[in-house]
Amino acid sequence: MPNTGLGVLLASLGWPHLVRTEMPYNLDFPNGGCTVCNRKAKIDGPTSSWDLIVDCVCCGEFQISKITADELGLPYKTPKEQALASHLIRKMQAPRYRPILNKEFFDALRHQTLPTPMEASDNLLIWLAGQQDGRPGNEIEIAHADPPLLGTLGVVEPEDVGWIVDSLKSQDLLLGGYPTAIDDRRRPRMTVANRHIRCRLTARGWERFEELKRAHISASYAFFARRFSNTELDQVFERCLYPAGLQTGYELRTVPQRAGLIDAVIENEIRRCRFLVADLSDENAGAYWEAGFAEGLEADRKWIE
Ligand SMILES: [Zn+2]
Repeated sequence: MPNTGLGVLLASLGWPHLVRTEMPYNLDFPNGGCTVCNRKAKIDGPTSSWDLIVDCVCCGEFQISKITADELGLPYKTPKEQALASHLIRKMQAPRYRPILNKEFFDALRHQTLPTPMEASDNLLIWLAGQQDGRPGNEIEIAHADPPLLGTLGVVEPEDVGWIVDSLKSQDLLLGGYPTAIDDRRRPRMTVANRHIRCRLTARGWERFEELKRAHISASYAFFARRFSNTELDQVFERCLYPAGLQTGYELRTVPQRAGLIDAVIENEIRRCRFLVADLSDENAGAYWEAGFAEGLEADRKWIE
């Protein structure tokens, strides 16, 4: 998903820290463990400002202050924390800038969860459609242990990818799934972790992809667009809006701390939410932007004025 947030704007203005320099990930020359997820990475720095520039096989590229990383005790230790962080950082990848991960990003992470199995399944459909590049007969190889794929889907391990593929096939959304030639040679020792299969979307799979492009059909949550420093609104949210949402069967989510480069997180939540509630009483530009973004997606929305 292209990031349309502050990062791209600053990059287009030539903001030096956000413009990507040449450091593509190269499997042959990793020089350490990723500062966030501890998988293989190429790391430059610390620079004079104590920043690390990291190119991780799973997260993608990002920049982080070494001081922040040390304060937070990074890298993450548990597989779920690692997977969640990688998933969100990968979502923030955009062609012309490298996201800077600040403390607010990691604070926001604490309120995020990994995609549900259904959401991760949708992520595979979207990924596959992109790889097929509009050609329905184009078979794409899925390597279950491929780190960028794990990060894109938001899953912890290759077995999760195996489950998603089986599930999509059983729903007639995916076709194929037979081993590639590589696996034929390895067949005696083949496990889910080293499985390579070839797949393509069925007509139903393409239909589902079209629905997902219009977004927000699968979600069982709503999104609350709001100003972030408003204790009165916190109380309204906790005592009134959140319980009211639950009573109608929807979890009302919000992102608690506004930070420029978590725009990708907010944008993704809005794309997938069933409906959006916006507090426009604070003249908060962010809430107006979020409401306008939802309007563009034709999401249902409610205003609080
Ligand atoms: Zn990483």
